[in-house]
Amino acid sequence: MKPPADSTPDWNASREKLIGLGEGSLSKSYYPELSERLAELERFRELLDQSNDAIFLVDADTGAILDAAGSAPALLGRDKGRIIGAAFSDFLRPKAAARVAAILAAQGTDAPLATDMASPDGALVPVEMTIRVAQRPTRRKAVVVARDISERKKAERALRRAEDRYRSIVENAVEGFFTSTPAGRFTSANPAMATLLGYGTPERLLAEVTDIRSQLYADTGDRDRLMHLLKARGGATNFPARFRHKSGRTIWVSLNVRVEHDASGLPLFLEGSCEDITARKMAEEALRDAHILLEKRVEERTRELHQANERLMREVQERRRAEEAAEAANRTKSDFLSMVSHEIRTPLTSILGFSKIIQRKLKQIFENLAVPDPRLQKSLDQVSGNLDIIISEGGRLTNLINDVLDLAKLESGRMEFAMETIDPSELISRVMASTSVLLEDKDVRMVRCLDSGLPSIQGDRDRIIQVLVNLISNAVKFTDHGTIGLYAVSQDGFLRISVSDTGIGIHKKDFGKIFEKFNQVRGGITDRPKGTGLGLPICKHIVESHGGRIWFESAPDKGSIFTFTLPLPG
Ligand code: ADP
Repeated sequence: MKPPADSTPDWNASREKLIGLGEGSLSKSYYPELSERLAELERFRELLDQSNDAIFLVDADTGAILDAAGSAPALLGRDKGRIIGAAFSDFLRPKAAARVAAILAAQGTDAPLATDMASPDGALVPVEMTIRVAQRPTRRKAVVVARDISERKKAERALRRAEDRYRSIVENAVEGFFTSTPAGRFTSANPAMATLLGYGTPERLLAEVTDIRSQLYADTGDRDRLMHLLKARGGATNFPARFRHKSGRTIWVSLNVRVEHDASGLPLFLEGSCEDITARKMAEEALRDAHILLEKRVEERTRELHQANERLMREVQERRRAEEAAEAANRTKSDFLSMVSHEIRTPLTSILGFSKIIQRKLKQIFENLAVPDPRLQKSLDQVSGNLDIIISEGGRLTNLINDVLDLAKLESGRMEFAMETIDPSELISRVMASTSVLLEDKDVRMVRCLDSGLPSIQGDRDRIIQVLVNLISNAVKFTDHGTIGLYAVSQDGFLRISVSDTGIGIHKKDFGKIFEKFNQVRGGITDRPKGTGLGLPICKHIVESHGGRIWFESAPDKGSIFTFTLPLPG
């Protein structure tokens, strides 16, 4: 359908008219002016075609498209020739077509009309359409401007999707989110916020809490401090505050808040998040309490330790003093003993000496007596017997004094050892010879078994003889029948000497007492002390002072073996 030419704004028709190609009724004198207007119209036309909007000139009565400009061909996917003459409604859906027809029949649109138009590939393109109807006496024409809003729609859809997503995140968040007025009234809150404060739903929270400061803050000072921060910095992060839960209990929360301002800088609203940190705070407090308690305990413990240490130091000092006193006492004791023993030994020597002289003299007197008198003989025997006792007890006393003195010297470390090279075989032979007298009147014999080529040792000859004599005399003392054996071997860097007997032996219960001072395990048969009870302690001291060891093995009625070692020279 070709539009008829008239004075309506049909650009093609106007152009034809102006250049005189149409009805050709213009005089040539108008030509320059006309061609100028024509150029102007051309420029206008070009401008229109450059528009991103699709522009249609539509016959308002018939709905036919009289002209098209701008992006109309692009929007509809056909060239202008196939657009002009077509019915405008062909490019609309029936419902939209009816609306456009109604608008064309009236005055046009007041507000842009959102609808769709057919796109090149047949798909619908969303457009925003404005329609202006020009009232002419003869023919009503409408200028329709359609703007492709598919990009905008796409952006809107994306925005809506994003909004939906964020709304869903906020709705389902465990953290509370809220917005409020600067004065302190909630304008929005998510379910978590309502739950956190005990109100069940955001609606109830918004309805019931009308003044955040007085209703929510357990300490309004917290709120004042927060507002101060917001004023100074525009936001606050991890701000701890105490809130009043709907149930009445106080909870600890951590707030992240920022203030939105208007263009003039006035606060518009507050938005933020809120996390319940009561459990964390309580744990922190418990930890702090535990820490304080621990520090107190450590302090107490340190004090106790300090006191214990002081006590210990005092005890150590006391013990040291006691040891020093004991050492001093020991020294005094051995001084006293040597003095006393000397004092006793001197008269004792006289007593013994004179007793022996008296005994001898008495015997001589009676031997020289002409007539032996039986009564006198009896008295003589009695006196002689008493003198025997004096002499033997005197001897025992001398031994005891010697032993006590030796032990005192050994214990106080004052015993001096005269070290020399000793041949063990020779030493054992000598001791055997000198002690053989002890076996007289006894059903006991003494044997020896020595390793050949025993190495010589370093030691105090007299003291080692003393040890050996002691062991042999003990063996003789506690053995009535059998054998006393002497053995010597060199073994593992030591000379090892043993004295065995076949005597009464020692009970296991007495083992611990054998090397104790003044301890005399009663003799099995006579039950009478047979020595000083100092012999073995002295032996032990002597052996150990030489760097050796002494021990025994024994069983009742089976005999005993006493063994001691002495180190061989390296
Ligand atoms: P003592 O001079 O009285 O014999 P010792 O110190 O030499 O003192 O011995 C302590 C005790 O050990 C003795 O009284 C005795 O009971 C026991 N004893 C020592 N040697 C023997 C032994 N060969 N057989 C049995 N008992 C012994």
